[in-house]
Amino acid sequence: MAISSFHPPLRTLMGPGPSDVHPRILEALGRPTLGHLDPLFVGMMDETKELLKYAFQTSNELTLPISAPGSAGMEACFVNLLEPGDKALVCVNGVFGNRMIENVTRCGATAIRLDFAWGTAVEPAAVEAALKEHGDIKVLAFVHAETSTGALSDAEALCGLAKQYGCLSIVDAVTSMGGVPLLVDKWQADAVYSGSQKCLSCTPGLSPVTFSPAAVAAIKARKHPVQSWFLDMNLILGYWGEGGKRAYHHTAPVNALYGLHESLVMLQEEGLENAWQRHATMHSALAAGLECLGVEFVVAAEQRLPQLNSVYIPAGVDDATTRQYLLAKHDLEIGAGLGDLAGKVWRIGLMGYSAKPENIRLLLSALAAAMLAQGYECDASVALAAADAVLA
Ligand SMILES: *Cc1c(COP(=O)(O)O)cnc(C)c1O
Repeated sequence: MAISSFHPPLRTLMGPGPSDVHPRILEALGRPTLGHLDPLFVGMMDETKELLKYAFQTSNELTLPISAPGSAGMEACFVNLLEPGDKALVCVNGVFGNRMIENVTRCGATAIRLDFAWGTAVEPAAVEAALKEHGDIKVLAFVHAETSTGALSDAEALCGLAKQYGCLSIVDAVTSMGGVPLLVDKWQADAVYSGSQKCLSCTPGLSPVTFSPAAVAAIKARKHPVQSWFLDMNLILGYWGEGGKRAYHHTAPVNALYGLHESLVMLQEEGLENAWQRHATMHSALAAGLECLGVEFVVAAEQRLPQLNSVYIPAGVDDATTRQYLLAKHDLEIGAGLGDLAGKVWRIGLMGYSAKPENIRLLLSALAAAMLAQGYECDASVALAAADAVLA
């Protein structure tokens, strides 16, 4: 059988990522491929670093995209900062905190685990108590925006505690960048990683990272070489570093980086504050509509992420039936629950280009239809009016 070209349908992506990719970014991906050491490409890499400093709100020199997805950015932070025998305090309030623990132990370090109920933020008071109890912690790690539950933690307070107790912070900002305030320098965060496919609305597969001078000093002072050759920041710097001299490390994903550059140019054009405000407004509109449909949020209002809305599936409505209906009838994707929340919640993303009025209206009317078809009583027109009232 001859296999022919793959032509995906145009879906609306309102899950936990990837989000809808803006046509400008898709167009940028198709531009002519340059050599990865071409001077023009190197110039674009330098611009990308500048744009990332804006997105992270940092002046950290060591700010660049890792050529791999958000999970690789996570791994880059852990393998560069931790050595065998080190201790890391890891806050776990969802899937990605668990993944951090895996990273710590695979570095030969010890993970001290601090659990919080899924759907709640990390509590700074509990973190401070743990930092007091264990005197020799090198790294405090936590997830700023927990995409598995929709909870936002107080990164400023947590990074402040890390400084106060003499440790380095590792912050997962995969879902927060571009969607909610992320102020790396002001908060004195040490190692922060993000992802291209959430609120930047770029294609998946790239992970912006930034390291503070204190984090760089810790990397320079290592006794053991970084266990990962590919993610060793000392080597990556030889390719991405300052000074005009670039040495081959790996072949950069040239066209993917055009896409990231374009997404960051668009973020700069919109302005970070405006992007945060847009996500907040779209969330309020969605929440007003969902409330009219009798759909309730998992996370308390003051800890909610605007870009990831976890909601309980109403009694009498089936998880898989509903998501299949949305995909088949409306080309609309929403996310399923994970872990203990599997089958109990949906995760509705409002990330980047997906955070717009059209998507909210589509989601509310399509979800109402899907639930009505299962005998659940609700009125889409009331929900749409409530959302429109917020958007007006
Ligand atoms: C999506 C996500 C990741 C992982 O990113 P990938 O690109 O899927 O590897 C890590 N942390 C959080 C909070 C995420 O939302």
